[in-house]
Amino acid sequence: MILAEDILDGLSSARNVVALTGAGISSESGVPTFRGANGLWSKLKPEELANFDAFLKNPELVSEWYKHRREITRVAKPNAAHFALVEMEKMFRHFTLVTQNIDNLHRRAGSTNIAELHGNIERNYCLGCQRRYDGEDFDKNGSFRCVDCGSLIRPDIVWFGEMLPSSQWEIAENAAENAEVMYVIGTSAVVYPAAQLPMDVKRNGGLIIEINMERTPISELADASIQGSASEILKEIIVKIKEKISEESI
Ligand code: NAD
Ligand code: ZN
Repeated sequence: MILAEDILDGLSSARNVVALTGAGISSESGVPTFRGANGLWSKLKPEELANFDAFLKNPELVSEWYKHRREITRVAKPNAAHFALVEMEKMFRHFTLVTQNIDNLHRRAGSTNIAELHGNIERNYCLGCQRRYDGEDFDKNGSFRCVDCGSLIRPDIVWFGEMLPSSQWEIAENAAENAEVMYVIGTSAVVYPAAQLPMDVKRNGGLIIEINMERTPISELADASIQGSASEILKEIIVKIKEKISEESI
């Protein structure tokens, strides 16, 4: 991986840094991306399951699909890319992790300053009385109906056609507004409004560093578009930044 000297300067001297992550950062943990999904659910399109109408029409099917996804994320472990972002949180004065993932792996890795744009698959709530059903006990009970009021329990995630949680979106927008650097990692960058954030950074003169296995709509905009796995590339970038900082302090 080669980074131009002026870009490396920018990465090393930045105080306000943001990482925007998508499903690709968790693929090395064994959590399938939507496009790479295989197995039992491969014939079903996520867009056709991950929306409120689909849930009301066939709550058992949609609930089973989320139960299946929770089983995958629970056995998955954070990978080196998640841990690299924990390290970055310590390296920069202000570091915000904005994720489109719902798998909870960033939190489990140890990142703390996180905006979860699409919710979290470990949380659920009752549509009738809002009672919360978080963590593993929900699946152990085996029912998708509320024990208090009998209404359906839904995952606390953002489905297609739904608004993002405003508190999380505000954190993301503020961070993007002030960012000198944004790393865009493992996202196909087509899902709005998250895909808007790199454009905000660019407009304010910040650097965009894309890390992805393939080119995406962000690649054109990026100051560096690095093709490769998130874990390998992030580790290399951290080494280069540390080298640069220690060179300068000699
Ligand atoms: P996506 O599935 O559309 O795209 C994944 C991207 O990651 C692709 O561009 C792919 O080239 C890249 N990628 C795959 N493996 C990689 C690796 N090892 N290193 C670097 N890049 C890699 O995902 P998206 O853009 O996040 O959008 C889909 C939506 O689905 C999002 O809302 C996301 O939250 C949700 N989703 C989440 C999960 C999860 O929580 N783990 C899984 C599937 C889908
Ligand atoms: Zn209820």
